[in-house]
Amino acid sequence: MELVKKYNKNLKIGDFSLENNLLIIAGPCSIESEEQMVKVAEKLIKLNIKFIRAYPYKPRTSPYSFQGIGEEGFKIILKLKSIYNIKIVSEIINLSDLDFYLKHVDIIQVGARNMQNFELLKALGKINKPILLKRGFGNTIDEWLNACEYILKNGNDQVILCERGIKTFETMTRNTLDISSIPIVKKLTKLPIIVDPSHASGRSDLVKPLSLAAIAAGSDGIMVEIHPNPDQSVSDKEQAISLDEFESLINDLRKLAPIVNKHFD
Ligand code: PEP
Ligand code: MN
Repeated sequence: MELVKKYNKNLKIGDFSLENNLLIIAGPCSIESEEQMVKVAEKLIKLNIKFIRAYPYKPRTSPYSFQGIGEEGFKIILKLKSIYNIKIVSEIINLSDLDFYLKHVDIIQVGARNMQNFELLKALGKINKPILLKRGFGNTIDEWLNACEYILKNGNDQVILCERGIKTFETMTRNTLDISSIPIVKKLTKLPIIVDPSHASGRSDLVKPLSLAAIAAGSDGIMVEIHPNPDQSVSDKEQAISLDEFESLINDLRKLAPIVNKHFD
């Protein structure tokens, strides 16, 4: 694993530079409607947050859970991009959608369940686009970095890692946030790493404390699930925080950032 040790000083996402800048990504678990996404986008813009989660497809553990609105979501992404100056983060499920993602998505996510989908990783290694590689909930850090190496080895050096919790025997939380992976990844690699406290805990009341802990431990950012009406969220409603709760989290992060030498506009 040589390539994860190389620093990519060119990792920029459009006009956003990761260097000392916290990468904050927020949005609902899944795209439900244009109205929902517009409410979220307007809040993000008000808070000067540059990246929105916009997920048309949802890989779910159960085939009976909501699977996402599918291609309808692509239209909503295009609409958002036409109205707002906001960057899109979205998960790719199927390589047949790659064209759309290349043209309209700013960071392509590989979700936990696809972390070892090696053909997907190889294909994403051949494109010129930042990839957010989530840690599989049953995978070691070593396996995660090897998955990353697949992307790097194929030529794409724009990888951001995302710790999203792993399975443990604890049942109070959906997963257990492996906070130690942050300094370990920092030690073993030169790659940026962010934390997803929402899927890590599955609990809205833990999103703020885990976000603060992640940044304090050296995380380069966070990805959080937010919703205009968390109670009505069609997927992962237990972990969605409201737009006001998100604002309060951002206010706290702005106070914390300078203490850990991170810039946050
Ligand atoms: C997600 O970010 O929408 C998601 C499903 O997360 P994960 O792949 O980490 O479970
Ligand atoms: Mn979710």
